[in-house]
Amino acid sequence: MWYAIAMLAIRAARAFDGQELRPDGAVVFVDDGRIVGVEAPGAALPDGVELIDVPNGTLLPGLVNAHVHLCGDSDNGALERLPELSADQLHAVIETALARQLASGVTTVHDRPSSPLVLPSPRSAGTAG
Ligand SMILES: [Zn+2]
Repeated sequence: MWYAIAMLAIRAARAFDGQELRPDGAVVFVDDGRIVGVEAPGAALPDGVELIDVPNGTLLPGLVNAHVHLCGDSDNGALERLPELSADQLHAVIETALARQLASGVTTVHDRPSSPLVLPSPRSAGTAG
């Protein structure tokens, strides 16, 4: 179930922001389900922000999967079944794949072309149930 999410801050002892290791940790700010900032661990928290402290954790905000085939549902023969799928069925497979990527921390994908159909907006997976 998805619901409106207020601004959230997650603070951990270590972080990797995609460019550098932050051995002193970081605070990741999330607004309405989207990462809006990665700051030093002592960053001031705006009023009303819920803080989740993970003193022994490591944050990896916004992972990137640089090679994915969103049209595959990971079952045997997935690519062979593609010609049999309707556009709606294929979009459902892609939406499920995007939701799985998001659930595992991946916020950006580079989809390798496997279908001539237009993909749904990747951002739509962030609001799908
Ligand atoms: Zn591949």
